[in-house]
Amino acid sequence: MKEKILLVEDEEALRAALTDRLQREGYLVDEVTDGERAFERACSSPFDLFILDIMLRGRSGLDLCRDLRAQGIQTPILLLTARSETVDKIVGFKIGADDYVAKPFDMLELMSRIEALLRRVPARKGVHQFGSIRVDIGATAVTRAGEPVSLSAREFQLLFYFVEHAGRALSREQILHNVWDYDVRAITRTVDMHVASLRQKLEKNPKRPELILTVPGFGYKFAG
Ligand code: CA
Repeated sequence: MKEKILLVEDEEALRAALTDRLQREGYLVDEVTDGERAFERACSSPFDLFILDIMLRGRSGLDLCRDLRAQGIQTPILLLTARSETVDKIVGFKIGADDYVAKPFDMLELMSRIEALLRRVPARKGVHQFGSIRVDIGATAVTRAGEPVSLSAREFQLLFYFVEHAGRALSREQILHNVWDYDVRAITRTVDMHVASLRQKLEKNPKRPELILTVPGFGYKFAG
């Protein structure tokens, strides 16, 4: 089945080029130019992915992202922006965007990000149980023996990344790149600190972890 993408972009030349490329890649594309119509369209028919420009007439891409999540719509969201400020990216992740591509972008790079997001779809919606820990990706909720565990947005992203790659050894750099994207302030030590914090919240004995294992000299492996 062809995957359906809602493309929201007000720059005509870019929208046409993107639509053409996406269609050639085999996707079904619905194009919209303004935020209001995008919201209506997104709420009225199912999509596999939203590509949202940030600077739009009416609702901005960030507003759209927040409003769609508030409606309980869990479809992956990729934000496009001409602005390079990291503030957009951080705000974007906080309000539920999944990825972020700054203009001007390389078309191949964008296509590979889209593919990666679409591959994530089944896992996103799943509920995963690891001993007493239950991770509900769609609801962004984690419980331990039935009690809610409070995680920061970044901790949840990190846990989600681990769940998605359960059983595989992941290097610190790989984790950093995928969970923190290109945030220049993040260093591999940041990964260690967040892992320590996740262990405190999730492991029976954080000093002898059974869930998030250390791979010496390399990184971590989620036992799952
Ligand atoms: Ca724009």
